[in-house]
Amino acid sequence: MTKPLRDELRSIPLYVPGKAVPDAVKLSSNEVPYGPLPGVTEAIASAAQHVHLYPDLAVVALRDALAARLGVDAERVVTGTGSVALIGHLMQAVGGSGGEIVYSWRSFEAYPITATVAGLRSVHVPNTADHRHDIDAMIAAIGPDTRAVLVCTPNNPTGPAVTAAELDRLFDAVPESVLVVIDEAYREFVTDPDCPDAVERYADRPNAVVFRTFSKAWGLAALRVGYMVAQPDVADAVRRCVIPFAVNAPAQAAALAALEADGEMRRRVDLVISERKRILTAAREYVPQVPDSQANFFWLPLGDKALAFAAHCEARGILVRPFAGDGVRVTIGLPEENDAVLDALREFMA
Ligand code: PMP
Repeated sequence: MTKPLRDELRSIPLYVPGKAVPDAVKLSSNEVPYGPLPGVTEAIASAAQHVHLYPDLAVVALRDALAARLGVDAERVVTGTGSVALIGHLMQAVGGSGGEIVYSWRSFEAYPITATVAGLRSVHVPNTADHRHDIDAMIAAIGPDTRAVLVCTPNNPTGPAVTAAELDRLFDAVPESVLVVIDEAYREFVTDPDCPDAVERYADRPNAVVFRTFSKAWGLAALRVGYMVAQPDVADAVRRCVIPFAVNAPAQAAALAALEADGEMRRRVDLVISERKRILTAAREYVPQVPDSQANFFWLPLGDKALAFAAHCEARGILVRPFAGDGVRVTIGLPEENDAVLDALREFMA
């Protein structure tokens, strides 16, 4: 007897997490290497006293703190269990009945998964030869069934960010009936002045949706907190898709504590950025095609050698994230970890 399971779920690629091997240097998940921000573990310990109680369903304190920082009304902020969950909820909010979502490829591997689960057809627009979004091709890919265009900036796993000129062009070309969804998971690492803060520049557009996360710069990956900024009607629709009590109480407390430590966050992110500059220059000596990165990782376009390079690194106790036949994403770690990657790369290319 056949079971009542949706056929298309079998076509979903499984999410491949960055590998974790005890004692290895883990540069496979774009985490920041400095531990939790000051005040975070204390906030979690304090919240732990009350885990017999449900968390605040509306996540009021965190939502209000985010709204105040971002300069938007609180009703426009939605929180969820990581931005990946919220991206999935947005897709559910616009999904089903033959809808399509347009995005660049290669990009974040959760997009095809969440799109298919939500009943959306993915329209992949190949990146340019220099591993950037091809905004004009994305505009051209929009059709009558398009519900949303998804921009990942900086793009995971390739690194470049989208410029204001490109995003302006996209917004101007897209009808209001299509959402322009901007995933800024790595926003805090952007230094290129041409690449805008999407909340500042676009949040007041009627069809703009921006995603951010506490998992990267804010150091809370294990606690799963992300947020979204959109117009009230879109925020309301997505909020209806969020599972009740999604963001747990220690996570809410930790995110609030992290926001209080924003100066230290900035200091740590600046360390990553200065390492990024050093590593990009050094890596290009061996692989000249390494694209710019505005994030806390860089891309080695090694093509057919991607898996072999990852195995070469693993044999040296370093975990990176290969995409077979395409390239390898390497997280920026501590200086000595980055040096180990460069040594491995030099050996591999020799
Ligand atoms: N968007 C992008 C581009 C990412 O790289 C990630 C994390 N890998 C996420 C969203 C999701 O992050 P989280 O669910 O931890 O907030």
